[in-house]
Amino acid sequence: MLAVLRLGHRVERDKRLTSHVALVARAFGADKMYYTGDKDQNVELTVMKVCKRWGGSFETEYIGSWRKLLEAWKGSVVHLTMYGLPLKSVIYEIRRVHAENKKLLVVVGGEKVEPEVYHLADYNVSVTNQPHSEAAALAVFLDWLFQGAELERTFPDAEIHIVPSAKGKIVQRRSRLIQT
Ligand code: SAM
Repeated sequence: MLAVLRLGHRVERDKRLTSHVALVARAFGADKMYYTGDKDQNVELTVMKVCKRWGGSFETEYIGSWRKLLEAWKGSVVHLTMYGLPLKSVIYEIRRVHAENKKLLVVVGGEKVEPEVYHLADYNVSVTNQPHSEAAALAVFLDWLFQGAELERTFPDAEIHIVPSAKGKIVQRRSRLIQT
């Protein structure tokens, strides 16, 4: 189980960003996204619609307390933050730990992250020491964790999938091939 915890979602300001975090999590190999802050039906619906069309069983769950989740989590916790240790210096150990206990929670923040998160995390990891985005940090981290294997991931029960092509768009809809 690889889950992502997105902290501090705000309905108005983050509606696209939190959906993007979920879609990155799904596409790059995570099984689930928990989120805290405001509960948001739109984020949950967006992700559900994507899963229905593009397959897989990725889930989104709102939780009231990140503290309870972090304390109860029976596995490793990685918190992505520009203040953490460089990705390259800790990724080998995180890969080893993940291969052993198979349960990893990757935490990404919002505007402000409580100091307690830094203490509850097993690893505080930076993807560069520059400020950028939770979606970008998550994508790079998962790519390094899975060493590119996630790029070939397929999703069961998809209604639709893309046939890669050098030019134009080729889309396979269950049994029908549509070329434009
Ligand atoms: N002050 C924040 C920090 O601690 O990284 C930047 C806030 S940023 C708007 C929101 C989230 O994006 C952060 O909580 C973190 O999860 C992620 N993030 C941004 N830049 C990052 C970086 N260089 N390395 C890792 N994560 C980063």
